[in-house]
Amino acid sequence: MSPFENAIQQLENAAKILNLDANKFEIIKKPDRVIQVKVPVKMDDGSFKVFDGYRVQFNNLRGPYKGGLRFYPSVDLDEVKALAFWMAIKCAVVNIPMGGGKGGITIDPKLLSKAELEKLTRSFTRAIAPVIGSQVDVPAPDIYTTPEIMSWIVDEYTRVTGKEDLAVVTGKPLDKGGSKGRDRATAMGGFYVLEQVIQKTLNKSKSEIKIAIQGFGNAGSVMADLLVAGGYKVVAVSDSQGGILNMDGLDIEQVKLTKQAKGSVIEYVSGQKITNEQLLEVEVDILIPAALENQITEKNAHNIKAKVLLELANGPTNPAADKLLFEAGKVVVPDVLANAGGVTVSYFEWQQNLDDKYWEEADVFAKLEQIMTSSLDAVWSKAQEHNIDLRTAAFVLAVSRIADKLDLH
Ligand code: NAD
Repeated sequence: MSPFENAIQQLENAAKILNLDANKFEIIKKPDRVIQVKVPVKMDDGSFKVFDGYRVQFNNLRGPYKGGLRFYPSVDLDEVKALAFWMAIKCAVVNIPMGGGKGGITIDPKLLSKAELEKLTRSFTRAIAPVIGSQVDVPAPDIYTTPEIMSWIVDEYTRVTGKEDLAVVTGKPLDKGGSKGRDRATAMGGFYVLEQVIQKTLNKSKSEIKIAIQGFGNAGSVMADLLVAGGYKVVAVSDSQGGILNMDGLDIEQVKLTKQAKGSVIEYVSGQKITNEQLLEVEVDILIPAALENQITEKNAHNIKAKVLLELANGPTNPAADKLLFEAGKVVVPDVLANAGGVTVSYFEWQQNLDDKYWEEADVFAKLEQIMTSSLDAVWSKAQEHNIDLRTAAFVLAVSRIADKLDLH
């Protein structure tokens, strides 16, 4: 199943429980607008290359479209549609006044020089400038996109439209209108939720709790830091080149330094090398997918040892695996809740830009914690009420909030 087919299956599961009006279902399951653009770039050697770029505006029933931009070789329209749909659901789960959007370019940015990356970003910005804006559609970072890339977008958007609109994207650098805490927001939000779930599900002390994390970027590496600082044991991490395992616990500071110096976590010497597939099946209490979609499927779900899965990545578990994991008594904290800290602080950044008033980091995290823990409580109660998994419960909550905004007259 493709990511978008997975997303629609998840919607169907929730619609059944909600007894959702058939007309509302048909409207909610399709994107408002699909934008495909060409992204021409003059390369350093003087040649031109033309890349494919996308922006999907799924729905804005609850507020402006909101969602990241992914620069990655496997980006395609199906994936962007799924990610845009999940953004609409996610914003509704945490009850912020934003809709769902997502975008990306099919490219491996690691093969570009910095000058080429900037030209690519500016070319893409020119292509989507007519359809974005702080009151319309607000992009943000995602895989292989950074605060610096966001600052190039603001700059180019201002140049081509003549409008000063700092809130046109979020995830900007701090000195260019970013919010304090945005760089750690996704992991921090996941951490607040995880600590509550641990209390409800695992009868162990912190130092006994073993954790594996797939993906060591903005989401995964910050989460590793938070967990170690919180007294937990991170025993396995990975990146695109593979993973490392040490059941006594990894020295995350050293792993980070190794990745900075040598390009990958696999160069860390005090651990055994494992594959990304093996990492998912390690004997741990908690598994945190923080990389790509469709990692946990019906093929490997039965090999997963963790009792709790916290989805920092978007769409790492397919519906067939969800069913198997639920039947096996595992607790999957779904992406639309687990990683919603990122979009929540993006929303705070957007508000700060519009009000031209900036918050202290402690205020950002206090508000984030309140939103994340109350959202978990709401999702948890919904799951118990209907005896369903947390993903279906989160979708039930979100779809009913979105459907309430639909006027069929
Ligand atoms: P990032 O670019 O900072 O890091 C991506 C990480 O994934 C890197 O460590 C990379 O090496 C690793 N990776 C790439 N290909 C891989 C593969 N085939 N197998 C294993 N690892 C691989 O991206 P990020 O922001 O950390 O995003 C990771 C996930 O979290 C994505 O699914 C993203 O949509 C999701 N997410 C991120 C945010 C955010 O604010 N950054 C918010 C919500 C969700």
